[in-house]
Amino acid sequence: MAVLKRNNWRTLFFSEYWLTKVENMVRGEYLRFLHRLSCLAGMTVVLLGVSALIGWVFDLPALYRVSARLPVMPPMTAVSFLFAGGALLLLQPEQPSPLRRAVGQVLAVSGILIGALIILSYLHELPDHILQQLASWMGLVKFSAIKSSPHTAVAFTLTSLGMLFLSLERPTLVNVAQWMAFLSVMALVVIFFGYAHEESIFYLFTGDIGMSLLTASGFAVLGWGIILARVEKGFFHIMVSDRAGGLVARRVMLLMALFPPMLGWLPSLMHSAVFTHTQIESILAAAMVLAIVLIVIRLAYQLDDQENLRSQAEEASRQHQTDLAHMVRLNTMGEMASGMAHELNQPLTAMANYASASLRLIKSGESSSARIQEPLQGILKQAVRASEIIRHLREFVRKQQPNKTRVDVYDLIQGGLVLIKGEAARYEVPLLLELDDNLSDVDVDAIQIEQVLLNIVQNAIDAVSNIESYRRQIVVRGYLNAGGDVQVDVIDTGQGMDEELKARVFDAFVTTKGAKGMGIGLSLCRSIVESHGGRLWVESEPGQGATFSFTLPVG
Ligand code: ADP
Repeated sequence: MAVLKRNNWRTLFFSEYWLTKVENMVRGEYLRFLHRLSCLAGMTVVLLGVSALIGWVFDLPALYRVSARLPVMPPMTAVSFLFAGGALLLLQPEQPSPLRRAVGQVLAVSGILIGALIILSYLHELPDHILQQLASWMGLVKFSAIKSSPHTAVAFTLTSLGMLFLSLERPTLVNVAQWMAFLSVMALVVIFFGYAHEESIFYLFTGDIGMSLLTASGFAVLGWGIILARVEKGFFHIMVSDRAGGLVARRVMLLMALFPPMLGWLPSLMHSAVFTHTQIESILAAAMVLAIVLIVIRLAYQLDDQENLRSQAEEASRQHQTDLAHMVRLNTMGEMASGMAHELNQPLTAMANYASASLRLIKSGESSSARIQEPLQGILKQAVRASEIIRHLREFVRKQQPNKTRVDVYDLIQGGLVLIKGEAARYEVPLLLELDDNLSDVDVDAIQIEQVLLNIVQNAIDAVSNIESYRRQIVVRGYLNAGGDVQVDVIDTGQGMDEELKARVFDAFVTTKGAKGMGIGLSLCRSIVESHGGRLWVESEPGQGATFSFTLPVG
């Protein structure tokens, strides 16, 4: 049990199961876009570090602090941003070259060391001169008194460690890196809210040492950059999915990435004589609620659209299947019809020749019974030959060895009906299926029996589409009959058949559908059912619908 639990936990966060499961959902364009964002994050952080350093070296305070009242970004922090941003940029490509990766790793390890040294200095474990020595190596000895805050040091250690993990490319470590980055970004929300509410306890450590807005923003950008650099390889891969989940994740992450920094920055920037800080912050919060609501509504519409597109695609594929089934049916019949036409052409031409010879004889007055006997006998012979051809063809179909396999009747009937469901829906015909539980498996050629079912149901749809739509219904019933055979009844509420049609309906070329029908379907169906050792028959009254039934012997 314990193992199971651990596995579940591992599955949720680390297992490659996640990755393989959704791999086919990953959308290339989203992936490229998010990788580019990560690249942009790396560049932004480097620029932030460079600009703050320029500010310190050339004494331009605007470059390392937001306002005189708020904490500054210390030079050591600016240098660390160069390291971290540089590492993120170097690790960007999916497969960085070994040299590139090694340099990225050195930068990440340096970031970890600098962060660790600052933390140690706060814990009084580290004599001050070590940090001063470090600052002098970096040419920053002039500023060595301006210390980075412990928040900053912890954030550096974590993000640099994250980057080192990313560079090792192991799925588990990529996941750990992403989670560390995500939790750091979430922790930064407290700092941004501290700035928004002017609660210095959240961003100051002692005196004026604290995490500046610039630094907090740098870390937020860095954190998202780490998550996005290998987004497809960890827990957050849902962001590159092309399904509804991906859409929601991208929107939510966008909100999470943008709003906390905005809340922190805008009141500080908009500090004016007209509104107090709190008033500005309230206006901002209201604007953000509005923005969130609008984004969520847009998201809802997009999800709705996606759903519509999906159901349209499903409908199109159903229609396609129906068309396909229809085509298969027509093909089989068409082939048979052209075969017959070809075979019958010869005797019919011969009969026509004999008939015109007879006419000629009659016209020329030479139609003595002896002379006319010969062509008439020819006609008779050819007519017998034609009917033999038809009989042979029917025999051929009947004797064609079906490719029998053992199939579940339930699957067989359902499989057949799926193909024609769309057609029934198109004509607004409710198609009901009633199958007994005790149906046994049967040895049949599934394709042929599906063909029979399709043909009968298609005829039923044709029959009911001539009556008022509220009376239309087709029931397909499957059960074991009294003889122990599987019996399938297709019961419709269509126009039914009179005695004469009923008697000839299984003959070839009997149709009431004019040019649209060929009158071969039912004759073929009967041949197929009989070749399976079953029976096909119809019961019907004019105006009372029709019930076509066929049996399939069990075992
Ligand atoms: P087709 O569908 O090409 O006409 P079929 O052999 O399948 O050929 O059907 C022959 C004829 O049987 C149809 O034209 C129709 O008149 C009649 N028929 C078949 N099924 C039904 C039914 N369920 N209700 C009424 N008539 C039917």
